[in-house]
Amino acid sequence: MGSQLQAWIDKSIDTGAFSRRSDVLRFALTRSLWTSFAAVLLNFVVYQVFGRLGVLAVTLPPNPWADCVVTMFVAGPICFIAYYTVGRAIMALSISRDAFERLSRTDPLTGLLNRRAFTDAVATFQVPYVIAVIDIDRFKSINDTHGHGAGDTVLVEVAAELRAALGSESLLARLGGEEFGVVMPDRGRDTALAMLDEARAMLANSLFDIEGQQIAVTFSAGLSRAGGEHGYSALLTDADRALYLAKAAGRNRIVHADDVAAVTAAADRAPQQLAG
Ligand code: GH3
Ligand code: MG
Ligand code: MG
Repeated sequence: MGSQLQAWIDKSIDTGAFSRRSDVLRFALTRSLWTSFAAVLLNFVVYQVFGRLGVLAVTLPPNPWADCVVTMFVAGPICFIAYYTVGRAIMALSISRDAFERLSRTDPLTGLLNRRAFTDAVATFQVPYVIAVIDIDRFKSINDTHGHGAGDTVLVEVAAELRAALGSESLLARLGGEEFGVVMPDRGRDTALAMLDEARAMLANSLFDIEGQQIAVTFSAGLSRAGGEHGYSALLTDADRALYLAKAAGRNRIVHADDVAAVTAAADRAPQQLAG
């Protein structure tokens, strides 16, 4: 009985069920109807018990059905007002909870998912997939030269460009600072590379006009593919390692984690290129 009551209460205050005013109205109507029925039933029980025990000299009313109707009309509106008030309070709570949840998963500057939301999203992504870590090149010098505000605008513009270039199948997030994460379905090694490289070339070949200043922006990226048991954090480490190499090899390029050994060997043969 206790657990059933608890379940009923839990179901009644399930915030997910209160997204519209009509939900609150339905909740208030059904609950007040049931409560009114319970009030009528209790009315009879009280008359019976009090009558038998001789408490307060209570006797059954001359017309019990009329009494039921009166009880319904008294209990019904009172219950409706009470349930409706509670329902509206739960609805307000539910709306602010949803807004809070959305805010806690969104990067406020670019409107992209944040790192936490990205990690959650990757966990639900269908394997095989590709992860890329994108980092704007020499971003500090953009801030230093054009100001922090212009740097912010660059971040917003780059986010928009990347979102447009990577398409709806890819999921883009701002991992922090001037670093972005991408997860996309694995359509073969070269497809992801080509897609990212297209975005890279597009950005590298254009200038941002920000507050009257022409700003050139490039990025480097590291890429890795998920398959089998290679988990998310291992993939991110691989992508980070590939990104590090892309930076060391001169920036404005994409390195695939599968090519790290080959790129390192090539760099070893030409160490002067590795001036990070
Ligand atoms: P690299 O090519 O090696 O990545 O060099 P970098 O200058 O891009 O990297 P570094 O880590 O030295 O500097 C990153 C800068 O990004 C430093 C920090 O002030 C700036 N930054 C981080 N978050 C924000 C932000 O939200 N807005 C702006 N405007 N700058 C930011
Ligand atoms: Mg950078
Ligand atoms: Mg960085």
